[in-house]
Amino acid sequence: MIIQYNVGISSEQRDAVHAKLKEWGLRIKENPGELGVSAQDRIYVDNVFGAVSDAMRREIASLDCVKKVIPIEGVPQNLSLRRRGVHHAVRIPNPHGHGEVLIGGGYPLAVMAGVCAVDKDYTLPSHQMAKRAGANLNRGGAYKPRTSPYDFQGLKEDGLKILCEVRKEVGLPVVSEVLDVRDVDLFMKYDVDVLQTGTRNAQNFELLIEVGRTGKPVLYKRGFSNTIDESLKAANYVMEQGNDNLIFCLRGMKGIGHSFRNQGDLDEIVALSHLIDRPIVYDVSHSTGRKSGVWSVGNMAAAGGVDGIIMDVHTSPQHALVDGFQAIDNEEELSAMIAGWRQISALVKTQSKEQGRKLAVK
Ligand code: PEP
Ligand code: MN
Repeated sequence: MIIQYNVGISSEQRDAVHAKLKEWGLRIKENPGELGVSAQDRIYVDNVFGAVSDAMRREIASLDCVKKVIPIEGVPQNLSLRRRGVHHAVRIPNPHGHGEVLIGGGYPLAVMAGVCAVDKDYTLPSHQMAKRAGANLNRGGAYKPRTSPYDFQGLKEDGLKILCEVRKEVGLPVVSEVLDVRDVDLFMKYDVDVLQTGTRNAQNFELLIEVGRTGKPVLYKRGFSNTIDESLKAANYVMEQGNDNLIFCLRGMKGIGHSFRNQGDLDEIVALSHLIDRPIVYDVSHSTGRKSGVWSVGNMAAAGGVDGIIMDVHTSPQHALVDGFQAIDNEEELSAMIAGWRQISALVKTQSKEQGRKLAVK
């Protein structure tokens, strides 16, 4: 909430309000007061962060020294481009391989490619193919969120083991989806490099808090039925844990278009890049659900100014445990796609730099 005080408030009165807010576990960011007015006429304002109940809001609003209490709306300050000033890169360390990856902040387009579901025989060749074709991260699900309980649910811990053994061979950092708070420790045990939260968990606040607490880079996928406002508020649960390493992923929505598996949300790349300072990734596989859609949608995402692309690949899609129909299996095609996307992305990023957009790494 934002607290606006009455003109003439004494420092003792303001200290008393601060003491109460701190007692409630809230954080205060003092605003120095409106400039250009003499000290005693100054309008003091505090930004207050933390979970504020209606009762707390009412109590503060009823104080004599308080003029009004305004709820915080709009883009959360933690992610706000306007507040933070520049697009920031997220650094993805690679302690089990070679070379960290920087995503966002004007760095070359990152490509996260790998199997939809980790399997025993094809994860290694698929991830090797992805690397040869130019990917700089591998994706692979050990825990799969499935609509029906009769569908394959992932190899679970065995899948994590395979993913991390394959990582040793390939040398790229890995992205994998955590489905449940109970599994976060296991992901830490295997030192998964980027924790993905899926579309179905987009408002699972407890999970977002737990992955946020790890400090690991988090690939937050927007909920397929959530507005951007809801998505940004949910993603802020990660950042509120003191974790700045948030990567925002668009992956299509439930919509009225029936051409693809999901209705594309490509225009939101543009909207988001004006709103938030976090890297933005587009999932070209789960948005389209079709191999034939991947290349062109990737072109559009790169042209829209995305910082990364995530995609399914598999060297033998007929043996894939999940989503084989949308996996790219041809190495030559994959290399051409990735190179083409990077060319488009470089052109667009150069243009926006020329137009004066500031870029920075944290
Ligand atoms: C996935 O990336 O494997 C996945 C299931 O994605 P989503 O949550 O976007 O459906
Ligand atoms: Mn999939």
